[in-house]
Amino acid sequence: MAETYDAVVIGSGVVGASTAFHLARLGGLKVCIVERGQICSGGTAKSCAIVRSHYSVPSNTALTLKSIEIFRNFADYLEDREAESGFVNSGYLILAPEGDMADKLRDNLDMQAGVGAETFPVDRQDALQHHPLLNLDDIVTIGYEPNSGYADPYLTTASFLKAARAKGVTVKTDCPVAAITHANGKVTGVQTAEGAIEAGIVVSAVGPWTRALTDPLGIDIPLEVSRHIVLTLRAGEPYRPDLPVIKDLATENKMYFRPASGGVVLVGTGDHGDPVDMPERMDENVADDFVLHQGGQVGHRMASFDNATLTDSWVGAYDITPDWNPVLEPADGFDGLHLTFGFSGHGFKLAPALGRVLAQSILGQSEEVALAPYGLGRFAAGALLTGSYGIGSIS
Ligand SMILES: Cc1cc2nc3c(=O)[nH]c(=O)nc-3n(C[C@H](O)[C@H](O)[C@H](O)COP(=O)(O)OP(=O)(O)OC[C@H]3O[C@@H](n4cnc5c(N)ncnc54)[C@H](O)[C@@H]3O)c2cc1C
Repeated sequence: MAETYDAVVIGSGVVGASTAFHLARLGGLKVCIVERGQICSGGTAKSCAIVRSHYSVPSNTALTLKSIEIFRNFADYLEDREAESGFVNSGYLILAPEGDMADKLRDNLDMQAGVGAETFPVDRQDALQHHPLLNLDDIVTIGYEPNSGYADPYLTTASFLKAARAKGVTVKTDCPVAAITHANGKVTGVQTAEGAIEAGIVVSAVGPWTRALTDPLGIDIPLEVSRHIVLTLRAGEPYRPDLPVIKDLATENKMYFRPASGGVVLVGTGDHGDPVDMPERMDENVADDFVLHQGGQVGHRMASFDNATLTDSWVGAYDITPDWNPVLEPADGFDGLHLTFGFSGHGFKLAPALGRVLAQSILGQSEEVALAPYGLGRFAAGALLTGSYGIGSIS
């Protein structure tokens, strides 16, 4: 006998976890999360988990502001005194050199203030008050967000899953979904390694693996997967955990860095990255040249890191759409099927609030932030959500 639920959510990354929690909370639905591996074992586990409202697409800022509210009141929001997201309210500084980037940064600061973000330009002296280690000689425009920071992706996801379980959500791990099932234009559930699960609502939240589920349905999605390297570096004194996150628009690969546990600095890139077929086949080796290049950029921005030591490195996959923004879509021709993919390297911070808005949309409730612009049809219609900084995860 097939098990029956109101909704099945495929994937237990931060997006699946938040969506399942909110479906149970807002709609009282009987929900099952089906995860092929262990909880939070996809892109979320590799995430740098930076939480900032700086975007050039206003709805992204609007969603993130709502996520920041959740991060700041996490245990209350999840009604669980033990819930932790690891959020550190360190602030966020975005740095632009003279020219195009500086103009865009100034425009985007105005746009975000219009959407309600607490963000404003600061001069070099102010920025150095917040982050005394910086070299800002080549920087002309600086934006500051006092309410932003960084979190812990595993803690955040595991806490959403625990809160979801408390609302009756079933979480199945080691249970790959082989197919989404349907009949007469409606989804009927999923076929898993353990048998069929019936549900009239199916949410696909499998990030880079989405094609494996949508291709058999004949749904054509524009999705690329690319490889991103994260390094941690140590230099001299332990790096303070309360130092602001830095986004460096003066670097070609749009480098960012933030404090990480153990007094190290965690460094990533916001560029396209090398294309890969599937995350499983990603080269896990990190080339010395890359370490030297990235280390050099950090050393330029903070002289104290000139001779830093590499303490760790890992690679993770971005699921990228042509405009570097996610697709959030009730799939055409498959009533009850909801696709989420293409978070393009910036989905962690969106997920807490996005899960709520997705649940509102699925339940037919009014959406706090309109999701219509994130539909799949935007690519054919030329209504892209391309950010003003061009390619990269700061859209
Ligand atoms: C290196 C790196 C750094 C990042 N830094 C940031 C950042 O600083 N800030 C930010 O906001 N975002 C960041 N991101 C992006 C962010 O982490 C992702 O957008 C987000 O975690 C995606 O979550 P998800 O739930 O959609 O996907 P995932 O976390 O990938 O979850 C998908 C899940 O689906 C499961 N799955 C796949 N196929 C199946 C199947 N057939 N059946 C069942 N389960 C299946 C997988 O095992 C996985 O657990 C970063 C990403 C990377 C890779």
